[in-house]
Amino acid sequence: MENTLRSERKATEPSRIVFNRDRCKGCSYCVYFCAKEVLEMSEETNQKGYLLPKVADESKCSGCRLCEAICPDFALRVISANADEEE
Ligand code: SF4
Ligand code: SF4
Repeated sequence: MENTLRSERKATEPSRIVFNRDRCKGCSYCVYFCAKEVLEMSEETNQKGYLLPKVADESKCSGCRLCEAICPDFALRVISANADEEE
């Protein structure tokens, strides 16, 4: 019974994108390279004055983690919907 519920959750919940605002340099690589258009640049800046990205539509995220890999400043992480089960 419990396994059935877990399977349903994997299929329906998108991954979560978590930014580290202070590390971000506003290069917009994560926005540009996401094929699903999950991210967009916001009008908000961090303490250093860099423009920050934001999540436009997390439900479109495939969890491919390209944004995480491509960020030169390790400023975002993709949290898998079933991360609590993996750890
Ligand atoms: S994990 Fe993939 S689909 Fe999701 S926001 Fe990052 S690049 Fe886009
Ligand atoms: S790729 Fe990294 S540093 Fe560049 S805008 Fe995205 S989160 Fe910020």
